[in-house]
Amino acid sequence: MSDPLIIVGSGMAGLGLARQVRARDAQRAITLITADSGADYSKPLLSTGFAKGMLPERLAMRSPIDVADALQMTMRTHTRVGTIDPQTQTLAIGAERLPYGELVLATGAAPSAPFTVADEVRDRVFTINDLDDYRLFHAALSRHGGVARVAIVGAGLVGCEFADDMLAGGHRVALVAPEAAPLARLLPPPLGQVLGAALGKTGADLRLGRSLAQLQRDDEAVSLVLDDGEVLSADLVLIATGLSPRTALADTAGLTVSEAGIQTDRYLATTQPGIHALGDCACVAGLNAMYVQPLQASAKALAATLTGTPTPVAYGAWPVLVKTPSCPVVALPPRQAPTRWRIEGEGDDLSALAEDENGYLLGFALTGACVRRKVELARAAPPLLP
Ligand code: FAD
Repeated sequence: MSDPLIIVGSGMAGLGLARQVRARDAQRAITLITADSGADYSKPLLSTGFAKGMLPERLAMRSPIDVADALQMTMRTHTRVGTIDPQTQTLAIGAERLPYGELVLATGAAPSAPFTVADEVRDRVFTINDLDDYRLFHAALSRHGGVARVAIVGAGLVGCEFADDMLAGGHRVALVAPEAAPLARLLPPPLGQVLGAALGKTGADLRLGRSLAQLQRDDEAVSLVLDDGEVLSADLVLIATGLSPRTALADTAGLTVSEAGIQTDRYLATTQPGIHALGDCACVAGLNAMYVQPLQASAKALAATLTGTPTPVAYGAWPVLVKTPSCPVVALPPRQAPTRWRIEGEGDDLSALAEDENGYLLGFALTGACVRRKVELARAAPPLLP
């Protein structure tokens, strides 16, 4: 039998690809290797779980055994691939060498923080980037019991969604970020301010325009020392200061990588024959979108390529829907800096259109009732990857 297709990573990209390949080829030998538990879950639901009181078990839609059974593939969980040798077409897992026919990297992105967390506070400081992280944070909240004071550091998509969700779950939330308004990478300031005001009205204690200087142990709590000297006290701290594509494994194979991820072409091919990449770890033709629709399109195109029909991937004008019920937000960030943002509407209901010098629409951002315009504007906006 020929060496299998090996997929590294069981996130939505890795599992999505395995499903698509199996749908096109019932016989292909597939092995999926993952460093985590391998449960099939929807990552976007992690930041909606606290409002609904969702237990981690309920977020897992299928166990790895059920997934492997349904897709007739071999699955190795809690197994970290250490290195890749493209010359011998083998992977190293500890001392074991595993041959691959074709290899796909779906290693995702890891939380990154611009500071180190001291050992004395580590048991109270969390990131939530997968179901295992959610389990740990959930257990810490349960141990705490009742209403917890949660300090969230970072006001991007992940920080804002968790802030709103934890407030809805009955916890007290402080939100600390250096930007003057939330979602600075997705929204022009007036719309960010609308979201900030809505989170404040829902109960968030906002510390915007402030950075975290230090985390210190304070008995059963953590003190957050801010750059202006203010000290906040929290029972638990959630760090949401961004994600960096996981490229270390690709590095071992000599693939071309950058801060934006593993470089691929439209066929998701890396710079080494026989190795492809998709999902949050991959920078496809210069773009790492890091959300679900692009990775689903990638999985579909790559499955076609791997089963004999070379297919380039294309991304549409797919806006990001931010899950902050206190203030609905939709955004399609422009790929190039706009000449101007044209802002319309009033109160919490704003539309911001990013335009070039000729008035062409490059992207948009919407808040409140204006999110209704998302379909109309997405039709007029340029695709992310034509
Ligand atoms: P991951 O899910 O990170 O999976 C990576 C996999 O690689 C893991 O299984 C890991 O164990 C494995 N791995 C890594 N290195 C190794 C190794 N060396 N050996 C073996 N295995 C390895 N997007 C949206 O479109 N809409 C949303 O509403 C939305 N909400 C989100 C909410 C949150 C809280 C977060 C964190 C993200 C959200 N996103 C959303 C983004 C979206 O969820 C991600 O783009 C997507 O899930 C990434 O999937 P992935 O498979 O590429 O990576």
